Amino acid sequence: MTTIIFQPYALLAALALLLSPSLVEPRFMVYNTTAGIDPGKLNVHLVPHTHDDVGWLKTVDQYYVGSNNSIQGACVANVLDSLVPALLADKNRKFIYVEIAFFQRWWTEQSETIKNTVKQFIRSGQLEFINGGMCMHDEAAVHYIDMIDQTTLGHRFIVEEFGVTPRIGWQIDPFGHSAVQAYLLGAELGFDSLYFGRIDYQDRAKRKDEKSLEVVWRGSKSLGSSAQIFAGAFPENYEPPPGGFYYEVDSDSPVVQDDVNLFDYNVQERVDAFVAAAISQANITRTNHIMWTMGTDFQYQYANSWFKQMDKLIHYVNKDGRVNTFYSTPSIYTDAKHAAAKAWPLKTEDYFPYADRENAYWTGYFTSRPALKRYVRILSGYYLAARQLEFFQGRSDSGPKTDLLADALAIAQHHDAVSGTSKQHVANDYAKRLALGYAEAEALVSSSLASLLESKSFSKKGNPSTKLEQCPLLNISYCPPSEADLSHGKTLTVVIYNPLGWKRQDLIQIPVKTEDISVLDSEGKEVVSQLVPIPDAYLNLRSYHAKIFLGNTVNDAPKYWLVFSVSVPPLGFNTYFISAAKGGAGSAKSRVSTIQRGEKSSVDIGQGSLAVTFSSEAGGITHYDNKKSTLMEPVQQSYSFYTSFNGTEKDTQASGAYIFRPNNSYVISQGQAPLTVVHGPLVEEVHQRINPWIYQITRLGKGKEHVEVEFLVGPIPDSDHVGKEVVTQISTSMQTNKTFYTDASGRDFLKRVRDYRADWDLKVDQPAAGNYYPINLGIFLEDGKKEFSVLVDRSFGGSSLRDGQVELMLHRRLFHDDGRGVDEALNETTCAEKKCQGLIVQGKYYFRFDRLGEGARWRRSFGQEIYSPLLLAFAEQDGDHWSSTRRTTFSGIDASYALPDNVAILTLQDLGDKKVLLRLAHLYEIGEDKDLSQIASIELRKLFPGKQIGKVSEMSLSANQERSEMEKKRLVWQVEGEKGEDGKALRGGPIDPNNLVVNIAPMEIRTFVVQFKESPEILDA
Ligand SMILES: [Zn+2]
Repeated sequence: MTTIIFQPYALLAALALLLSPSLVEPRFMVYNTTAGIDPGKLNVHLVPHTHDDVGWLKTVDQYYVGSNNSIQGACVANVLDSLVPALLADKNRKFIYVEIAFFQRWWTEQSETIKNTVKQFIRSGQLEFINGGMCMHDEAAVHYIDMIDQTTLGHRFIVEEFGVTPRIGWQIDPFGHSAVQAYLLGAELGFDSLYFGRIDYQDRAKRKDEKSLEVVWRGSKSLGSSAQIFAGAFPENYEPPPGGFYYEVDSDSPVVQDDVNLFDYNVQERVDAFVAAAISQANITRTNHIMWTMGTDFQYQYANSWFKQMDKLIHYVNKDGRVNTFYSTPSIYTDAKHAAAKAWPLKTEDYFPYADRENAYWTGYFTSRPALKRYVRILSGYYLAARQLEFFQGRSDSGPKTDLLADALAIAQHHDAVSGTSKQHVANDYAKRLALGYAEAEALVSSSLASLLESKSFSKKGNPSTKLEQCPLLNISYCPPSEADLSHGKTLTVVIYNPLGWKRQDLIQIPVKTEDISVLDSEGKEVVSQLVPIPDAYLNLRSYHAKIFLGNTVNDAPKYWLVFSVSVPPLGFNTYFISAAKGGAGSAKSRVSTIQRGEKSSVDIGQGSLAVTFSSEAGGITHYDNKKSTLMEPVQQSYSFYTSFNGTEKDTQASGAYIFRPNNSYVISQGQAPLTVVHGPLVEEVHQRINPWIYQITRLGKGKEHVEVEFLVGPIPDSDHVGKEVVTQISTSMQTNKTFYTDASGRDFLKRVRDYRADWDLKVDQPAAGNYYPINLGIFLEDGKKEFSVLVDRSFGGSSLRDGQVELMLHRRLFHDDGRGVDEALNETTCAEKKCQGLIVQGKYYFRFDRLGEGARWRRSFGQEIYSPLLLAFAEQDGDHWSSTRRTTFSGIDASYALPDNVAILTLQDLGDKKVLLRLAHLYEIGEDKDLSQIASIELRKLFPGKQIGKVSEMSLSANQERSEMEKKRLVWQVEGEKGEDGKALRGGPIDPNNLVVNIAPMEIRTFVVQFKESPEILDA
């Protein structure tokens, strides 16, 4: 700097300002934030929170680090970083944190000093973990086993790192709420309350009138009041109340300006606005406690900005004295509610479907991204099996694990992940994480199976030499090991693992190239097998998707599916050998015929007691005939599609990723293509080309008393740029009086009545969309004499829009956004060689008739088989030394034992330190089946043969505390009009320490940590 231009007057003016008496006074102000509950006043609980989506518009990692901000300015690292000094600045400030996927990312990056500070926040209650799963899971498109697993992962991290157990459920954003959330992922976790933001607008209006937003929610008929929870729906959403109380740095709410020397002083104005908002909320709320959710999506990126304003509000509002306000948490609020009132309204069943306004039913996402939904479901079942095998092998420190898959699956349960409501690039990120998790788990499964195979000849652990391959692309009939040329004396070995606790008979289907094949079982006996020609539709599917997924062309296509019947012990495997036929019967070739349409003829398929009739005239199924149950029923199955509403200038609500808003519906004619009929000893099928983009196989298998329908839907045409939402309908002649039943997150069945809600008088504006419900396990009808059940292979939206009919939405392709934030049309495509087309979705559903009261047995046991399919691993070998060097069968449980038909093992997981996590589920509800809806007994010693059980601790559902501790702490809630308990629910009761038998009551899930006296290693049978 060389010259200074001297401006004397300006300098003098500045000096005068600095020296003016009012300004030299220190303006440092200490705000009084010490207030707590005041029993004599209306108490406004300020709950500072941030809602951090584990992927939505950006991927989870982009949200964490704060990249890709042109999409959304959001950085969770900033939130957590800025929280530390903000909480240190005033010990009365409080904060809750919810999504452990983010918290873990942050935690690993912190210094010891910061970690110690945060631990102190947690001890003092300044920071509290709420909900505490890896993500805030969706409640419609998730399976309850995934909800449990993702919550367990988060809860165990919290208890291991901080020694605390979350006590509040916080599902503030999911789009409707499942009964399972209340009783299972609420009460059974030990939660004292559950809060959420989204319930139907008509329901909300009525609840505001009746002051019944807060209820005691009893989600399970079977477990009743023993698994109820205090539940609160927010008056609007999970943001601050109307009146301008947002304080992110870029918010446009008025800040509290309390400096008298500056312009725009507004303390009284802001206090008045605060009091007005509080009174208005108090008018719709019972007791003198109301909660303000002070935050929203990705807020507190500069935490002090919020806290500074709340400090002032607390100070001035309390000084004003009309209402009382203070820093609070949902725990403090819950305790106040518990202390303040004696009884609450009762809520049963669930909060589905959800509409946030007229013509805006969030029922499209029940089906959105059906391929991702299927991928999640397949890997969920695979994860269950892989953990069993990890346990049998012994968890390795160096080798592959299931942890990466656990993490990917947990994140995929987020309410914008499996729900199908993320942007496309984020959906790709979920799929990539799942694929990486699968790859590691696949290596673990192969090595564990190989160790078990070799444990006959090799002692204990060690690197097994058997190389096993698995075929994740079996669904597109791509499986290199099974397609091997067997003509030169090679044998293909198939190791088949059964993750269920029951012995299982099933049919296996793998692609093969060789025509003369025989299949031998582990004792060398030939088993019946059948070759079914692979239709062109599948060969095209195979070559197209191999290009996409593998990046290469697979020319030499297999000609046949080889189908054979297998029998596999519980939690164990059996081995089958496939080779070129040397004498013996060999595989039966299917008898294939075609029936031209228009001929007046019909054909029956079926290999056992069940047969179905197809009519060439109708072009589809006409009758179902089960000779065993003597049920002969007319049945039709067809496809149609809804055209999506595009939105108009006056009525902008379009159908989109969240919302299903149809415009019209069109029946898809069964076309004129001939029916291809396949007959054979194991499977009988009818193949149909319904239209250029729908192909279907209807299959009956030997020993199966249900119809399996396998469909290929897509690419849904886009040339008219009109969205299409494709459904299938299965119609019976049953008189069902508007009534049907759908499952809650794959568990309890809830009664649904068309155009009706139990909680309010429904105004029907969307007769299709407003009657759609999420389906994870199945849907069924009954007419007083019989039941008709349909089971699914992933979550779908569905309904019964006409008596006797079931409708499932299988696929959707849309061209408009529905205005709920994702800002993208749900138009999924796949691209090969720079050409893109609409996504093809493949899947299966299953249906069957039963006599009244007998349908649950199939829905429950076969439903579990759909969730946990047999796991196949392949090895190719020259010669046949396999059986002499390896064991060919294995069961992880006592050879004489199997679980009762009504019990499934949901978790068998090595926790290290000679501990195993064991979760047992009763599969039936009370009254569902005359024999199986009873208490079942499981002998723990027989589950762990060859091991010394030391201690068995029963835990909460997420295994973060002992169940007895949880029950001691649990708040007891009273229901209006009930005196005391509503009658004790049936429970299995304490486990006898001498015989170690666990009793389990209908719908109970019991979680144990079993401690062994020796290290869990491979058993040598
Ligand atoms: Zn969200």
